[in-house]
Amino acid sequence: MCTRIRPEDIPTPVIELCQTLARNGQRGWVVGGCLRDILRGQPASDWDLATDARPEQVVKMFPRVIPTGIQHGTVTVRHRGNGYEVTTLRGEGAYSDGRRPDHVEYVSDIREDLSRRDFTINALAYDPVADQLEDPFAGLDDLSAKLIRAVGEPERRFSEDGLRVLRAARFAATLEFELDPATEAAIAPTLPTFQRVSAERVREEWLKALKARQPSRAFRVMRRTGILAATYAELAELDEAVFERALDTVDAAREPIVRLAALLYPLRARGVDAWLARYRFANAERERVLRMLRYAEPEGIVSAADVRRYARQVGRAFLDEVTELGALVGAEPLAERVRAIGDAPLTTRELALDGRTLMSELGLKPGPILGQLLELLLERVLDRPELNTREGLLALARTEYEARAERE
Ligand code: ATP
Ligand code: MG
Repeated sequence: MCTRIRPEDIPTPVIELCQTLARNGQRGWVVGGCLRDILRGQPASDWDLATDARPEQVVKMFPRVIPTGIQHGTVTVRHRGNGYEVTTLRGEGAYSDGRRPDHVEYVSDIREDLSRRDFTINALAYDPVADQLEDPFAGLDDLSAKLIRAVGEPERRFSEDGLRVLRAARFAATLEFELDPATEAAIAPTLPTFQRVSAERVREEWLKALKARQPSRAFRVMRRTGILAATYAELAELDEAVFERALDTVDAAREPIVRLAALLYPLRARGVDAWLARYRFANAERERVLRMLRYAEPEGIVSAADVRRYARQVGRAFLDEVTELGALVGAEPLAERVRAIGDAPLTTRELALDGRTLMSELGLKPGPILGQLLELLLERVLDRPELNTREGLLALARTEYEARAERE
């Protein structure tokens, strides 16, 4: 880890914003997560700025400003093709309902602004014009020690804003840091505040944790502190060994959504859908997770035709992730055999012949018979993909149609 920030660590456009603030008699600091990230040698995801200028002054200093959160003191300054959030220094006491600040109190001291931030490693500020780092809570030391430590008194800080405990767990995974013992001890007593955090914000933190190299680090913290019990009781109540096995599969999976399915796999028969809905996962994400849970461990697959019938049930788009999860949870490996399906038809729409051709060639009128014939052809093609030619299918359809006509 590097222990010093130099102006050259900060992108030129960001320095230019600070220079403009300085020319107008104010100051600008780079703050928060981006400093933490560059000190860790990681690229910063976004550059947040703090200033002692009031939002209405900032608006006047720059030609293109969007008042994104002006009631909380934040505006977005467009500069050289990017947007930068510039937030006026805010004081303590901003949080009172356990969720969002309900009123804003502007201050002029950067250290006061840093004191309302969540963790020491996030409570850093750097003025690139003065080349001056502010680190009032020894965040640099905690960065070196890889520790997540609340700024100030942890229990009080967690009671102000319930999201912080979950951020702590998420950072344990994304940064691969440990929680300072006093910070961790303050989680259990403040869970009632965490319980008031909106489902959307909880989901967003879960998704961030699931992108870490080892998401297990976050979920282990959540489980032992009670955060998990407050979010998903059935998951927290799993046997330790079952939970740990699930975490191994979570870490081994690649995509966040497969990792989520791996985490929930032990609960597959128990109302996972209701939980996903409650935490407002997108319909597409729910569908993917449910298919993975449902089909990861199929039974009775012997022949190549069985593999194709299974693939039809799963749906072609879901096959890769379903078989990935299957391999992780120790199902019979199917990836090879699923790949061998190639472009063999799995739906009636993929047949070499469509309903319109059936109508014109067999002289049929629109009606349920068309769909029935196509289904029947698909069944035959699932058994023998080589039958999938226009002529072959037409011949099959004719025979079948005539047999039916005779029966009636
Ligand atoms: P990441 O961007 O990786 O999610 P981050 O720490 O940058 O992590 P942001 O949500 O971008 O998180 O917040 C920027 C900064 O705002 C943080 O570094 C921290 O200083 C402060 N902050 C964010 N959320 C809170 C909170 N709930 N309580 C107190 N301070 C917060
Ligand atoms: Mg950030």
